[in-house]
Amino acid sequence: MNKPELVCPGGTSAAVEAAIDAGADAVYVGMRNETNARNFPGLNLDQAELVASIRYAHRKGRKIYLAINTYPQPGRVNTWERAVDEAVATGVDALIIADLGLLRYCQEHHPRVPRHLSVQGSATNADALRFYAERFGVTRAVLPRVLPLNQVERLTQEAPLSLEVFGFGGLCVMVEGRCALSSYATGVSPNTCGACSPAASVRWEEHAGERRVRLDGVLIDVFQKTEKAGYPTICKGRFKTRGAVNYTLEEPTSLNVLPILADLVQAGVAAIKIEGRQRSPTYVARVTAIMRAAIDACVRDPLHFVLQPEWMQGLSALAEGHQQTLGAFHRPWR
Ligand code: SF4
Repeated sequence: MNKPELVCPGGTSAAVEAAIDAGADAVYVGMRNETNARNFPGLNLDQAELVASIRYAHRKGRKIYLAINTYPQPGRVNTWERAVDEAVATGVDALIIADLGLLRYCQEHHPRVPRHLSVQGSATNADALRFYAERFGVTRAVLPRVLPLNQVERLTQEAPLSLEVFGFGGLCVMVEGRCALSSYATGVSPNTCGACSPAASVRWEEHAGERRVRLDGVLIDVFQKTEKAGYPTICKGRFKTRGAVNYTLEEPTSLNVLPILADLVQAGVAAIKIEGRQRSPTYVARVTAIMRAAIDACVRDPLHFVLQPEWMQGLSALAEGHQQTLGAFHRPWR
């Protein structure tokens, strides 16, 4: 029976250790600069922390993957190439890359380091995946969260590399790797600078018992005192359209694949990834522990796998807006 790797987020050294202690097979991390798509103040690892995290993981037989998954900007390509060289020097187990030029750089200069295609690369069909495998020696691809289950199942048969799918966490509504919403308000987006809604652009205002949140002056939501406010992104803002204020693009909700876990395991996906390098070590530990228990139970006996209510309740408490979805995996209207 195929046993998918559980790949967990490590936004800080503490989160890396929390993930490993809770049962992650691998942890994905980023450097403290614009080369990774979670370039937020206070997040990510410096060189010394990266080395220490790799040592911690390897002592316990686990792996560290490093995401260099933003797109090199004109005139500064060497920032991204230097990040690859530095990452390789630390001994990371694989690099997660989106950009074609950087994949080629890595292949030419560090051919023995495994290369994974980032979700930001947005490869959604067998031909695209074959291209990355044949031209750049990519051995694993993280699939964008836009494919229904039957297409994922078909790709596991047709694609000449192993596939990683997201299993829990926040969803981006845009075709992955293409969202520029944040750029319209702030000039900064995940694919260029590594941040959606950079903290320096966020302004909270108290006003007549309400909390208003703006991104560089653009009002994107108004919360009542009793409402819980998440980190503001344009896609989850509430806007007035056709006379009514609502979530115009996307409601806050989290992906949760536990209801189809047995299908994914039997399809042969190589890895299940938890979103959330911006989350706390406690959050990472709790999600990792639940996913670990579920994957182990599923692999032990997939035909009799029973979803435990406490897993769903535990994840529901951690989900954005306390709502969970199968996202594109399940499209009943098709
Ligand atoms: S605006 Fe929303 S969809 Fe776009 S990158 Fe940010 S979180 Fe993702």
